[in-house]
Amino acid sequence: MRCHVCGSEMQAIVTSLPFKLNEMSIVIIKDLPISQCSGCNEYMMEDHVLKHLEKIFDSVNEQAEIEIIKYAAAA
Ligand SMILES: [Zn+2]
Repeated sequence: MRCHVCGSEMQAIVTSLPFKLNEMSIVIIKDLPISQCSGCNEYMMEDHVLKHLEKIFDSVNEQAEIEIIKYAAAA
């Protein structure tokens, strides 16, 4: 797969990424499988990963300012 921004090769990696849920809350997802561009910082997630993330976000306590969740363990 190639990057839609710069055309470089995408690499499958496992990483941690922060997601902003709203003005107050940030969720950090650990051990998240993504494809990251080797040329720029663009990244992509597969559909089933996005669906799983949505479930995780639904289950997050939105009163918490920051939460750290392992991708595999959640939902
Ligand atoms: Zn790129």
